[in-house]
Amino acid sequence: MQAMILENSAMPLSERTVPRPEPGAVQILVQVCACAVCRTDLQIIEGDPQHPKLPLILGHEVVGKIVAVGKGAERFKPGARVGVPWLGWTCGDCRYCRSGRENLCEKAKFTGYTLDGGYAEFMVADERFCFSIPDNYSDAHAAPLLCAGLIGYRSLVKAGDAERLGIYGFGAAAHIVCQIAKHQGRKVFAFTRPGDDKAQKFALSLGAVWAGDSRTQPPEQLDAAIIFASDGELVPQALRAVAPGGTVVCGGIHMSDIPSFPYDILWRERTVCSVANLTRRDGEEFMKVASDFPIQTAVQTFPLQDANEALDDLRTGKMQGAAVLLMP
Ligand SMILES: [Zn+2]
Ligand SMILES: [Zn+2]
Repeated sequence: MQAMILENSAMPLSERTVPRPEPGAVQILVQVCACAVCRTDLQIIEGDPQHPKLPLILGHEVVGKIVAVGKGAERFKPGARVGVPWLGWTCGDCRYCRSGRENLCEKAKFTGYTLDGGYAEFMVADERFCFSIPDNYSDAHAAPLLCAGLIGYRSLVKAGDAERLGIYGFGAAAHIVCQIAKHQGRKVFAFTRPGDDKAQKFALSLGAVWAGDSRTQPPEQLDAAIIFASDGELVPQALRAVAPGGTVVCGGIHMSDIPSFPYDILWRERTVCSVANLTRRDGEEFMKVASDFPIQTAVQTFPLQDANEALDDLRTGKMQGAAVLLMP
């Protein structure tokens, strides 16, 4: 059986234990068909965020088939196709869980970070956190929906009803959000790394009305901007591009320090906020959108054993759309 495992060489084998199910988890055994590669996977390998379980199997954008169900499982039958997202378990009991904000649960466990994920042929998941995948997507095309799509969707909701929407960093999440935003009748302005003509053309091909360098100002003032890139310098850039009352949403799990900026660019009720994780409700809502409107996910597939190559291509910015690992 194949899996890509991040090791902790400092931990002697004798101290490693088989992970126990989280309290209340309703387990299913999933044969992984496809798992998309997320920038967060790279950041986990590079040590930020800092506390992954080790050894760890990465991967939190998983599409697979259920091969067996554990005690109490009743949502899905063996053979059903499911998606396993980043949010893998929550306590159900804290003030966040009880107020519809399970994305902020302090005890939450995350797939491919504090729970083993989908860079593997098989994985165990908690069925309560899995989603049905709309039939109109292949396994490979559905995989990026599970994080790029979901986090992108939550970021888009945070942007409110902005008609003119800026997107900074045109990778996997942006290419999905751009299509949904256009479908909703918004105007998308895409910002890429300076000189990245390929990404700018890609954005225009997906319906953006304008594409340009992240250091330049768009031709119109924006009502909101979403930043998917991890460069903190983009926050003041985006604040300068949004109109009074506008929102800047930081959609990434990691960002470099935000430089100080004059109050002037925040004043007049501009807002800066971040998006953390997802709730199951986001997932259900987003899968409904994805089933009503066919999102064209651009994917580049790699066999599981080439996971490192896929990660390298993402690191060096070679990837357009999303990298997806296909299992043997
Ligand atoms: Zn992700
Ligand atoms: Zn909780």
